[in-house]
Amino acid sequence: MDKKLKLAVIGKPISHSKSPEIHQDFANQFDTKIEFRKDEVTPETLETWLADFFKAGGKGVSITLPLKEEALNNADEISDRARLASACNVIYAKDEKLFADCTDGFGLTKDLEENLKVRLKDKKILILGAGGAARGIIPSIIEKKPAKLKVANRTESKALLLKEDLEGKVDLKGKSLIFQAGGLADDFLLADSYDLVINSTSVSTQAGESIGLPKALFSGTKLAYDLFYAAEKTVFMQEALAGGAEKVSDGWGMLVEQGAESFRLWTNLIPDTSRLLEKPID
Ligand code: NAP
Repeated sequence: MDKKLKLAVIGKPISHSKSPEIHQDFANQFDTKIEFRKDEVTPETLETWLADFFKAGGKGVSITLPLKEEALNNADEISDRARLASACNVIYAKDEKLFADCTDGFGLTKDLEENLKVRLKDKKILILGAGGAARGIIPSIIEKKPAKLKVANRTESKALLLKEDLEGKVDLKGKSLIFQAGGLADDFLLADSYDLVINSTSVSTQAGESIGLPKALFSGTKLAYDLFYAAEKTVFMQEALAGGAEKVSDGWGMLVEQGAESFRLWTNLIPDTSRLLEKPID
């Protein structure tokens, strides 16, 4: 009998995660046998959990909130993508070593540019939030050469720190990018109009909760994208439409595409994402 590839997703909360179903769909495409665990793990139990998992022959693990930063300390090698993000969403075993990588930015830009046909080059982009997800996606967005990137966060100091960190790691001189960071005050948010507004805050995890954005923020917006995924439109998506955004999307496509990139790291196989993109798992 073929040996099953041992995979997992960890974080807290974790029961809502669709990663097992997504990876099962990918594995079925290649007749790859997988065993996919979904375990609740906290920063306190992370080190022991990872040690036990890989000792028992584990191949790869998806890392989610709130472990993405902490998990970096548990890898032997860190990819450029994870180093720039100061966070990882995947750890895998290869050649007797543990590798950390961050596929979130790849997943988002693939969903935006290839699935939703929204080019980022020369665009004005607003990112709401400055947590782990924002850190994961911003380096990939910068690579696509937008004209302006603004990061706005409830705790302003966190947005300023994120910008400072990134400027220490990425050479922005050759790029004609205007990069700004600040809080959620109306005068900062409304000083520009944006082609793309990305909600990377965790506000949508609390049903019915609003960031309290000014309605005028969305005038001229081609796409308002919520990283959170849900069967119903999130409050952010509803507010964006009411404010004049042409289109809205949740983060399902990003989740599928980051998963496909993680699956490639684990198996060297590139899955077809089209079926899952068309039919989200309930
Ligand atoms: P995180 O590190 O905990 O950061 C949360 C961010 O949200 C912080 O910037 C926080 O601001 C802000 N925030 C929380 N509540 C808020 C509120 N009521 N009003 C305004 N801002 C608020 O979380 P994360 O890892 O970045 O994840 C963020 C979201 O991205 C989650 O919904 C997650 O599910 C989603 N995500 C989706 C994918 C995907 O593949 N689709 C991948 C990764 C993450 P403060 O700094 O002021 O606290």
